[in-house]
Formats: sequence, structure tokens, C-alpha cells
Amino acid sequence: MKRWFLFLPLITSILLFGNGRLQAQTTHQRLVRPGDTWVALSWRYGLSQETLRAAYPHPNLQNQPVIGSVLTLPDTGREFTGRILRLNEGGLLATAVRHQSSPWQLALLNGLPHPYAPTLYRPLFIPGGTEPPHEMPVGFETLELSQLTPQPGQALAFRAVTSQPTAVAASLDGMMFDSFENGRYLVGLIGIDDFYTNRQPELAIQPEGQPLWSQPWQFIDGDWTYNQITYTGAAAAVTQEQIIAERARLTEIWSQTSPIPQWTTNFQLPIANYLEISSYYGARRSYNGGPYNSSHEGTDFAAYGGTAVTAPAAGTIALAEPLAARGGAVIIDHGLGVYSGYYHLSAIHAEPGQTVQPGDLIGEVGTTGLSTGNHLHWDFLVAGQWVDALAWLEQNMACWILAGLNGRCP
Ligand SMILES: [Zn+2]
Repeated sequence: MKRWFLFLPLITSILLFGNGRLQAQTTHQRLVRPGDTWVALSWRYGLSQETLRAAYPHPNLQNQPVIGSVLTLPDTGREFTGRILRLNEGGLLATAVRHQSSPWQLALLNGLPHPYAPTLYRPLFIPGGTEPPHEMPVGFETLELSQLTPQPGQALAFRAVTSQPTAVAASLDGMMFDSFENGRYLVGLIGIDDFYTNRQPELAIQPEGQPLWSQPWQFIDGDWTYNQITYTGAAAAVTQEQIIAERARLTEIWSQTSPIPQWTTNFQLPIANYLEISSYYGARRSYNGGPYNSSHEGTDFAAYGGTAVTAPAAGTIALAEPLAARGGAVIIDHGLGVYSGYYHLSAIHAEPGQTVQPGDLIGEVGTTGLSTGNHLHWDFLVAGQWVDALAWLEQNMACWILAGLNGRCP
């Protein structure tokens, strides 16, 4: 009879072990999206901000969850819907009336002693609806990002629906987005340099006359190839002065931003019959044996001389002429500060000012200018910055942006 007690410690340890395992299983992972601040997550899961922060391995200056990072949260089995108002004009009473909820219940829920307590600049949680709470820029109903974990060298965009037409100033790490409005639809575009090193830059959005909203955004490293280039003959004869003058002239073109997108579909490749992609955008480059301190500004398609080069999407021809470094050149303005360029062409089939449709012939592959063989160099600029055109295609950026501005992409 007494021997039975000898087994007690064993039973207890099994229970403890079982309990430990149970705890390990009741966490869940959550990808951080715009507006997932500690305040918003705290309301959403019914957890204290302290508990949330303790579980977070991505500390940053702002002390907020980083967009695109993953949170491991204790699983409470609860998830609440509602909205968070940071600027509750008129105080809690007026806010409760506007949202048809009881002032006393709202006060109780938000930890206030009574509905007359001052609430200025204190976020108020209004339960209800079907959406989890997010902390958005004032007047924003939605805020989406084109990528949650972008790489340097990519075009990035945000899109939003606002409660009424709003002008915004938006920036990433101090670099300004090109912003475009269409009524309550809002879109911002930016191009990120392929040598950009900040891996947790701050996304900041300021609606006109409203407080600044910001949240850090997780970047990941790019995966670059390496090219060694040796120029000989006619290509080697192009001078540094010619290269600089040409770039200055093109920068003038690329800095014009028209507010209407000319494209109506996703972009397609500008060349169908190519042999191989001979150099990718962002490839680290060494010229004539020098250091790898520059990179490829576009994508090279090796192809036979005379192969058709076509418009990837609708636009207006911004330039069509031979240049010293780029050789036979065509540049298309697609609107919203998006430009595509086609270089080293042996023949040009476009006129400045002409509009083109996707698939229209604009030139033929050649090896004119600073070139070591027949190929198409295709470059792509967003907000004045070279970006990876193939990533733009793969990520369906054109349609994503159109949908953001017009509510749909046909
Ligand atoms: Zn190239």
C-alpha cells in the first residue's frame, strides 16, 4: 500500500513535462503587416504590451514591430476585431456617439474611470466590425505594401484607401515616394538603390495636416552575380566626359513625372527571341580588372543582331536617337515616373512623342555604343532610380499599382 507513493514523483514529472509541451505548442507565428503596432496587437489578442515585447527578437529604435518580420505570440485563443483611433476628436463621448457605442462601456474597455476623462492623444479602441485592429495614418482605411520583405534594387509601392481624398508626404529612410491620388485611392512609388544597406528603414507617411505615422520595414539582402568586363576597340574609345554628359541629359528626362499611368496591363518582356540573359540587374561589376564597386543598371539579353525589340507596355517615346555610350537608344515614359530604356540598338523604329502599345516594334538588337557584342540592354527606372525590371514583372507591380489607383487592373 505504502509503495504506491513511490510512483508519485514520476506521475508529477510526466504531468509537468506534458504541461511544458502544451505551452510550447500554444504559440503562433504572425507576419507583421503595416499598422501592427504593440497597441494594435495588444487589443487584437488580449495580451499586455509587455508580454508582446518580451516575445520579440527584433529590437529597433522605434521599439515597434518591424513590418515583414515574424512574431511568435502566446496563443490566447482569442482574437478581437475593432478599430483604434489615435485622434479622437471631441473626446470619448463624441467618439462613442459617432461609432454608436455606449460611452460607459467604451470608457471601461479602454481603462478610463468615466466617459468624461481626457483622452486626447490616447488611442481609443472601438470594438466591432470584422477587421482586426490596426494603427494606420489618420484617415487611412487600408494600407498595403507591394512586398513585405523587399530587397535593395527593387521598385516598392504602397497603396491605400482613405476616408476622403488626402494628399500625403511619404518617405522611406528619408527618401521620398512619388505619391499619386485618385479620389480616395492613393499610391506611392519608390525605387531602391541596389547598394542600399539599411535593413530596417523607417516607412513614414504624413497625411496633410495630420500627425506623422511611421513603422520600420524589414529588408533582406539581394543575391547578386559578378561580372568582369573588358572594353576594347571602339567601345574603349568612349570618353568619361561623354558618359557623364549623356547621363546628365537622361537624368533630365527621367526626372519628369506625369500623374497618369499609361499602362493598362502587366508588363511583358521587350524581347521574345533571345539566347540568354547575359547579365542581370545589380550584377557587381569589375571593369578592365578593377574592383567590384559598380553594378549593372539593367538586364542584358544576348540575341542575334536585328532581333525585334518591342514595347513591354503602353507609353510615350521620350527619346529615340543614337547616344555615345548607350548606342542606338529608345526610352519609353510609362507615366507615374516609370521609364524603360532600350540600348545598343542597330536600328530605331520609334519617334519622340509617339505613343506605343504593348508589343509594338521600337527597334532592333545591335552592338552600338559601349557594348561588347550583340545584346539588348534593358533598363527600368521608378522615381528616378534604376530598379530590377524582371522583379517588376514577376511581382506584377504594374497591375498592383493600377488596382491601387483605380480599384482594378483589367
Ligand atoms: Zn547591360
